[in-house]
Amino acid sequence: MSQPVTPAPVAPAEDAVRAALATVDDPEIRKPITDLGMVESVTVGADGAVRVGVLLTVAGCPMKAELSRGVTEAVSRVPGVTAVDVHLGVMSDAQRSELRTTLRGDAPANEIPFAQPGSRTRVYAVASGKGGVGKSSVTVNLAAALAQKGLSVGVVDADIYGFSVPRMLGVTGKPTQVDQMIMPPIAHDVKVISIGMFTPGNTAVVWRGPMLHRALQQFLADVFWGDLDVLLMDLPPGTGDIAISVAQLVPSAELLVVTTPQLAAREVAERAGSIALQTHQQIVGVVENMSWLELPDGSRMELFGSGGGQAVADSLAASTGTRVPLLGQIPIDQTVREGGDAGTPVVLSDPDSPASTALRGVADALAARQRSLVGKSLGLTPAR
Ligand code: ADP
Repeated sequence: MSQPVTPAPVAPAEDAVRAALATVDDPEIRKPITDLGMVESVTVGADGAVRVGVLLTVAGCPMKAELSRGVTEAVSRVPGVTAVDVHLGVMSDAQRSELRTTLRGDAPANEIPFAQPGSRTRVYAVASGKGGVGKSSVTVNLAAALAQKGLSVGVVDADIYGFSVPRMLGVTGKPTQVDQMIMPPIAHDVKVISIGMFTPGNTAVVWRGPMLHRALQQFLADVFWGDLDVLLMDLPPGTGDIAISVAQLVPSAELLVVTTPQLAAREVAERAGSIALQTHQQIVGVVENMSWLELPDGSRMELFGSGGGQAVADSLAASTGTRVPLLGQIPIDQTVREGGDAGTPVVLSDPDSPASTALRGVADALAARQRSLVGKSLGLTPAR
């Protein structure tokens, strides 16, 4: 009698391994590693052991452990694979340059993708009249809430006096550079670039107008943002040069004004918003922050007065002749500050708090807006 035979294990086909590799995205670039020229070699042994050579964009790539793990997991799932050995190498200059062309096409260096006629990215410049009204807190929470809705989101922290955005989003990594492209760190699914990442040891830098303009130009043109749905720019408080720079660099950027109910804040916020008049930018709306404190008995204590946000919206509507809605009122809530200090925005750490609900309401309003065609060429040709 013959013995039952266990079939000899069949070694996986190289194609199956490559197909599995195509499901692995580079953690920074967020595109399949197979499309980025990062898979250098695939060797499949008769025993089912697979060796994958992966090329990192730069030697010190902060994401290499994550990348190795992703490759190992994907290849292990292929039937017949018995072992996975990931071998990491580094791209040559020529390969990096090729990668840059893959990502950016023939777009000239210094070209700002968001300023191009076909751009589908909505750019919101978040402005306030004075510091401390919660502009950065609102920015990071809107970014996190929009990313959670599945949108692709980036934040530029251009607040030279504060640069608090990285801390509030819990970003510790530094950007990496690939052939003149800057790869932004990602936190809570939000791509982040801060002026603070380019100043040694968080030192205060005296940023004068022209320097700031150049830095902003670089953030917008040289950072690899990918296809963003929304870019939020946290501007320094006040009516300074940078708002003008934003208007010049990305004429389609719209202003989101953050204020508190306080009369003094209201007046300066109106002044910040009135820049839009000179630069012909649209104002998407006003967010009133620190609107009230909810007491244990459910009543509201209006620490900074009331009505400021609506007054700013009305006044900006009157001066611009456009509709300027009050998009939301965010209560004072300890969890907002705690979330910021801990690096997890309150919309993620405490999603049911009243502040989170209000912030998500603003994010929903921004997400629902259609790309404006104002000032855009429709590419029409005259009928004959
Ligand atoms: P800005 O960017 O306008 O200077 P920040 O976002 O840095 O303001 O906020 C200033 C301080 O106020 C921070 O400590 C922040 O955590 C806190 N804060 C902002 N909004 C709220 C809020 N709604 N409730 C409680 N604390 C807040």
